[in-house]
Amino acid sequence: MKLLRHDLYIGPIDAYIDPPFPVERALITHGHADHARSGHTHIMATHETIAIIKRRYGEDSAKHYQPVKYGETVQEGPVKITFYPAGHILGSAQILLECGDCRIVVSGDYKRRGDGTTIPFEPIPCDIFVTEATFGLPVFQHPEARDEIAKLLTSVKNFPERSHLIAAYSLGKAQRVIKLLRLAGYDDPIYLHGSMIGMCELYQNHGVALGDLRKATGLPKGALKGQIVMAPPSATKEVWARRMDNPVICAASGWMTIKQRARQSGVEVPLVISDHADWNELITTIPETGAGEVWVTHGREDALVHWCETQGLKAAPLHMQQWEEEAQGDQA
Ligand SMILES: [Zn+2]
Ligand SMILES: [Zn+2]
Repeated sequence: MKLLRHDLYIGPIDAYIDPPFPVERALITHGHADHARSGHTHIMATHETIAIIKRRYGEDSAKHYQPVKYGETVQEGPVKITFYPAGHILGSAQILLECGDCRIVVSGDYKRRGDGTTIPFEPIPCDIFVTEATFGLPVFQHPEARDEIAKLLTSVKNFPERSHLIAAYSLGKAQRVIKLLRLAGYDDPIYLHGSMIGMCELYQNHGVALGDLRKATGLPKGALKGQIVMAPPSATKEVWARRMDNPVICAASGWMTIKQRARQSGVEVPLVISDHADWNELITTIPETGAGEVWVTHGREDALVHWCETQGLKAAPLHMQQWEEEAQGDQA
């Protein structure tokens, strides 16, 4: 029996990795909605990912939870399972499967850049590496996140009469932007859309200090002048945002590389800050794993599959519909 099928079904233990439909046994790489769904019977994931799942879907979103620590190996029948840090969001993991002398790593989503809110990715030696390719084209070269934050802080200084409204996905991106602001020495309160507060609290409860965070609603008129406000991308067009005096609209996403996309969505200050690997990170990570075979998923498979073949590696695209949603969305 095959250890892992292309739909990430682990035959020998009758379990799936990140399945898009409810199953008996699921191994979950991280808490983003297109990887972690509710309704599974049994979930194995890191402690942090389980906390995120419970926060989003409720305590009873699965019947049984099996929390694991990074680096801890669990034997299930003939298969050894180990979760390793993926550096994507809090709790995110790559999953190593070992059976006989075969080693397969499913990366989930990952990045190689420093991130004060997650444990850094480490390359795990394997025979087959399943990689994401959200930004799998050479045109995607993410700049240093701290330079993007410097751009934002310059704008804040230049427009003291306006607030800066940053569109950022509520799980992962928002906390990373806040952390980057703190690391850049910004100590003022940061104001949040109500839907972000729970996830920021969860990060803080897991030891990620985010400083003084406040709710952006119920404040006297003009209180947000000169302040930084964060909201999920959908909320920046709501009535909620229009109450602010002439805000400078900013957005933090890997997609901000595409200037046209920023313009179309009315973004004045695009911040190219991504939680996914860019092209260079992808093509340095693959050889570091030593894998002879690479499965590519999450968006732009073709260019990376082609690159692998030029390196003499066996490569195949996986068309995982559910993961494409995130790849196109704002979580990037
Ligand atoms: Zn993700
Ligand atoms: Zn994803």
